[in-house]
Amino acid sequence: MVAMAAREINRETTMDLRDKKAVVVGLGKTGTSAVRFLLAKGAKVVVTERKTEEEVLKSGVLLGELRSKGVTIELGGHTSESFEGADLVVVSPGVPLNTPEIEKAINEGIQVISDIEFASCFISAPIIAVVGTNGKSTVTEFLGEVLKGAGKEVFVGGNIGVPAIECAECEERSTSEGVPEFCVLEVSSFHLEAVCSFRPHVAMLLNITEDHLDRYADFKEYAETKFRVFDNQESGDFAIINAGDEVITEDLGKLRGSVIPFSVKNELDEGLFLRGSEIVFKQKDSQETYPTEILKIKGIQNIENAMAVIAAARSLGISKDSVLEVMKTFTGLPHRMEFVREVDGVSYFNDSKSTNIGSLKKALEGQVDSLVLIAGGRDKGGDYKDLRDVVSEKVSELILIGEAGDKIEAALGDVVKVTRAETLEEAINFAKEASTSGGTVLLSPACSSFDIFKGFEERGEEFKRLVEAL
Ligand code: ADP
Repeated sequence: MVAMAAREINRETTMDLRDKKAVVVGLGKTGTSAVRFLLAKGAKVVVTERKTEEEVLKSGVLLGELRSKGVTIELGGHTSESFEGADLVVVSPGVPLNTPEIEKAINEGIQVISDIEFASCFISAPIIAVVGTNGKSTVTEFLGEVLKGAGKEVFVGGNIGVPAIECAECEERSTSEGVPEFCVLEVSSFHLEAVCSFRPHVAMLLNITEDHLDRYADFKEYAETKFRVFDNQESGDFAIINAGDEVITEDLGKLRGSVIPFSVKNELDEGLFLRGSEIVFKQKDSQETYPTEILKIKGIQNIENAMAVIAAARSLGISKDSVLEVMKTFTGLPHRMEFVREVDGVSYFNDSKSTNIGSLKKALEGQVDSLVLIAGGRDKGGDYKDLRDVVSEKVSELILIGEAGDKIEAALGDVVKVTRAETLEEAINFAKEASTSGGTVLLSPACSSFDIFKGFEERGEEFKRLVEAL
């Protein structure tokens, strides 16, 4: 069970930090920006980090500089002493709230919040929060481009790129120019574990499928955490939700903002849906259409993403033309259904960021013809049997790498031809042999990469390098 932080925040403590003891847990990019901000506010800052001094220095954190500014730094693990007497604890997204020392602080009534909650106390621009198991980064960037294209000053960050607290810094630094008019944040369920007053003007819930079951007691708890993004919305705010996602539609009773549903499955009385090759946005008194052929990013998942972006942009008063412009130009992010190259008439796609079953399922659902799939890596606790129908329909051969090989083969081995490979290079060579001109080879692992690689980026880069060398 993930410990949930306090549901109420003492904003006075959070806003007036002079001489208050503030503890920052985790000294990555997010932690470092929190420390900087807290120092500027006059807080007495204590940092506690699981990594050793050597590891932290390697990641580029300027420990000496922080120490010279009076920051107390604990490395190589957390101790309860660091939390003693704290007025505020800001937790980095990677750190589980059920870390014993943090749990103890929560039980003692110390205010424990995520960096997103902390940042949002200081951000004046309307916040647009992007939540979901998959598609967050794509939608965050896509919407950011639309808003920029419409001539707005936009901060884009959160779980992707720049920590949210830098939006607050940006606002405080600027006089007139460069002040964000909108703050678009990718928000993970880890952030949402420790929010209490976080109130996005627009909250988007893209989908909820199994992921991170190694961190949550069960799927229900994971899903509930995602719903916390709507907790503080009021009328006048917008809740954009995927009405084609059964887990999401189960639980809509509590929403207080205007709900804008979207679905690629059914036509809706109001909201966004697909009719032929057009996205229709139907509201009480109006109807707009957006052609899907103009989208540079492909697949059914990206039609859903475009729907969410259209809904958000139009809610924020951005013109239809501005949205159309970016639909034509936005090429997506690396490692998300990224086209690499054609070799002997076979197209190779890198979807290394596909680290769960939901993202692989969507990647396959959008395919017209069957393909050769490379999957596997470190298992995250999901049920690969959910893939049986789509795999038997869309995959001609499944090539497995990594630790999860046995589990995946046990779930799918009777519906598809399975080949086991020792390395990614061997998998690509098998895939090359198994495919014919006009076909597709897709790397979409449905697993994390940490059994073999440092992260999904390294796995994707290695895939691209090997495919370029074919
Ligand atoms: P996140 O930030 O939520 O991890 P990304 O945009 O980085 O999302 O995409 C992660 C994976 O999910 C990629 O494999 C991508 O192709 C896939 N994906 C993107 N959008 C969606 C969607 N709406 N539904 C399901 N999968 C998606």
